[in-house]
Amino acid sequence: MKRTLSPPEVEPTGRTRFPIPFFDQSETFSKLWPEIRGNCLRVMDRGKYSHGSMVAEFERELARWTGARHVVGVNSGTDALVLLLRAAGLRPGDEVIVPAYTFVATASSVVLAGGVPVFADIEEHGYGIDPASVEAAVTPRTRMVMPVHLFDRLADMEGVHEVARRHGLTVLEDSAEAIGMRLRGTHAGLLGAGGVLSFFPAKTLGAIGDAGALLTDDARLAETARALRHHGRSGRTLDAFPGINNPTVVAGCNSKMDDLQAAVLLAKLSRLDTDIARRAELSARYDARLRNTPGVRAVPSGAAPHPGGGRVVYVHLIEVEDRDGLVAHLAAAGIGTETYYPVPLHLQPCFAHLGHARGDFPRAEAACEAAVALPLHADLTEAQVDRVCDEIEDFHTGRRG
Ligand SMILES: *Cc1c(COP(=O)(O)O)cnc(C)c1O
Repeated sequence: MKRTLSPPEVEPTGRTRFPIPFFDQSETFSKLWPEIRGNCLRVMDRGKYSHGSMVAEFERELARWTGARHVVGVNSGTDALVLLLRAAGLRPGDEVIVPAYTFVATASSVVLAGGVPVFADIEEHGYGIDPASVEAAVTPRTRMVMPVHLFDRLADMEGVHEVARRHGLTVLEDSAEAIGMRLRGTHAGLLGAGGVLSFFPAKTLGAIGDAGALLTDDARLAETARALRHHGRSGRTLDAFPGINNPTVVAGCNSKMDDLQAAVLLAKLSRLDTDIARRAELSARYDARLRNTPGVRAVPSGAAPHPGGGRVVYVHLIEVEDRDGLVAHLAAAGIGTETYYPVPLHLQPCFAHLGHARGDFPRAEAACEAAVALPLHADLTEAQVDRVCDEIEDFHTGRRG
């Protein structure tokens, strides 16, 4: 399963230029192939291709790893968010406060669950939702607030909880990126009523397709989510419906996790601690090299973790003066980057009806203009990190490009 690489270009400077993709799982899959293959064969041998036992096995292991009382495996992080909002009791027209700077699914899941997203700005230092901005967004229709833990650090959960307590709001977490992040020992997603994880391939724990999970310590919320992922069917016979086995108690979705994805994820979970440690090492190397590079403003995500929280690097983000110029320079050098996030949500066409204009959430807007994510995955080498840094330095010192 080894990749074949095209022959490297050799530059006049003598530097060898293998392409450096933003993300690459092929080494991981080679290393874990016996476990992955074994788990996949077990799925096929059992002959139960949906709602099989591999998902339950993965849910148990993930519950052990995160400390969650309940893990509900689903088909994507986005569906996990929709199920979470519905299972937490969102009613049509309820308002949910979310940051303006995040992946679009944070807010579109609110719409899909029948609610109305209301935006708040991010912190002055860092990319989490700003508790003061949350407070300013509260109306009589606000029911929930959903902070997002972006890139390498938790949002200000203590600040958010304080506002939520004052206004009687339910706190949910979009912890899609936050596997491994903990606040005083409690895993992300368990710092409020519930949270989610995404196993989109590029996430810290990635599948070979789409998958996600809902985490909660609340047994009733978990039971509702289990029903919602499986056409709204209750897992047990209810006294209220005598004679009906597994009654359909709510209009649900088909959002079950695929057993083959669970097979891959179960194998990869055994390497997660090592992967997280390796990402931290590589991120620290970027940090040391780029900290004093002119034109690079913030490394990696601009701010120290909130008290009680640690740093777990999903994405190594930097802010630069000429982001689009740097992205083009790196692309020409064969280096992949991602722009997280290109447009603040209040300016996305799908939320135009909410009536926002440029200038409403200036910190979110500034982050969208300056931020760029560098290649980072557990199989990246030091030499690759150094080459990315060389190119960034060259761009900013005008040596080339
Ligand atoms: C990845 C991500 C999601 C969505 O997860 P999918 O599995 O791709 O549906 C939601 N929110 C955030 C913050 C994410 O990074």
